[in-house]
Amino acid sequence: MTTVQLYCALPVRACNSYRMASHIPALPQSFTPGTDSVFSDQSGFYSLDSNVPGLSKVILDKLNMKDYGEYRAAVGGKLQGISFRNYKEMFQKMEETFKFCASCNKLPEHLAEGQALKRCVKCLNVYYCTKECQRVDWPQHKRACKTLRLVAVDRLVEWLIFTGDLPFPTGTWSKTATEVRNWEDWFAMQGDLTPRLDAILSSPNMAAIWKNASRSKPDDSELRQSVWRIQSEFLSRVLSVGVAVKHFGLDPYVKPLTIHLVGASYNETMGARLTDCDELTHMFPEHQGMEVVMVGPEVVDGPILRPPLRAFGPRKQVYISAHKGLYHQFWEDVVEEEEAAKPDLVVGFHPGFHANRGLLEGWLPTLLLLRDYNIPSFFTMYSEMELQSSLHILTELEMHIRDSGQNPFTSQKPEQVQSCPNKPPVYCNSHYISFQGLLPRKELEEPRPEN
Ligand SMILES: [Zn+2]
Ligand SMILES: [Zn+2]
Repeated sequence: MTTVQLYCALPVRACNSYRMASHIPALPQSFTPGTDSVFSDQSGFYSLDSNVPGLSKVILDKLNMKDYGEYRAAVGGKLQGISFRNYKEMFQKMEETFKFCASCNKLPEHLAEGQALKRCVKCLNVYYCTKECQRVDWPQHKRACKTLRLVAVDRLVEWLIFTGDLPFPTGTWSKTATEVRNWEDWFAMQGDLTPRLDAILSSPNMAAIWKNASRSKPDDSELRQSVWRIQSEFLSRVLSVGVAVKHFGLDPYVKPLTIHLVGASYNETMGARLTDCDELTHMFPEHQGMEVVMVGPEVVDGPILRPPLRAFGPRKQVYISAHKGLYHQFWEDVVEEEEAAKPDLVVGFHPGFHANRGLLEGWLPTLLLLRDYNIPSFFTMYSEMELQSSLHILTELEMHIRDSGQNPFTSQKPEQVQSCPNKPPVYCNSHYISFQGLLPRKELEEPRPEN
């Protein structure tokens, strides 16, 4: 694996102290990605060949955008000149990013005069330049076609998160956090979700999607499932934080907890509301107060962008704040200045540092900081493959790995590997690694016998 080879060139013990490590430049401007990977100027890019969803250069070229930041600003309607004028145009542009031949990778501009890409009628997700290309691809595509149909519906319905129709409210928990081990247990407490799902199905924004998208509206049962999948992705993040709290034996009934979400992305902070982590209060009712601080260079402006608490938050409430910047910088500028409480736990969703060298370099100061300050840390991954690559890197860093495996609160929404749609889909937060501190040295465990 290139990632690991590149990494091994770094002297691990030489940057034993986080202070030294912070001199390693983050995401150098000169970094040139290979032809098989994605630009990594911004941490939002992931290598598509690492089976992680993301935006490829092809997609950005299509949208006439130079980088991920520009794309995000446009989706958020904040970029003058490039902003989408209306939903129809936005959905069209999004769809155009999927328009390449899934078999030979031809783009529309590579086609002969009068030739057009045709969409697979079953999934309405992948395109082909010719019947022959479709025929050649079918043995691979037939395994993915059904799931890709769900993905195509979800990427439109997902817009309801940004309009505020989703997430729908969830009920208080009738069981303890220890008793609720997985989705099945969670569902058992929620009762019938249908009325809540149906309220979203009949919302004006749902109607607007199908008026503007270039496809017909799926039937209600398909839409209900899609709404649930999107809600599950949202809940998966909060529930994963709860899993991490339990993993490290932190007790929110004994003392207030400060949780830092490191590498918080555009997805998590765009349109974020102060109530977004309330599921933690359902999970630990009567807790002593929890604070969630989202930190990352992609944090989006909004109500949660407010200073963190210096000490304890209000009891029985989750206080969310956010800070735009790299985590090690936040630590130096804010935590060390005692303007923010030290974290009891740090959680990262899909850090992606396994994907390429640029991302790893960006993450390195943070990883070493977490290690050297002995902070309980919990990171999630998209797949078993990402888990293995990430474990390899963390082991090279001599992190003390506590546990790793499948997350019982995996998102139910399949994510397509956009440039290779026939690859098996991945799922948000499907795996996790928990780690804390430096791996104990063998010689410390086995002291020499005294004479
Ligand atoms: Zn083709
Ligand atoms: Zn298909």
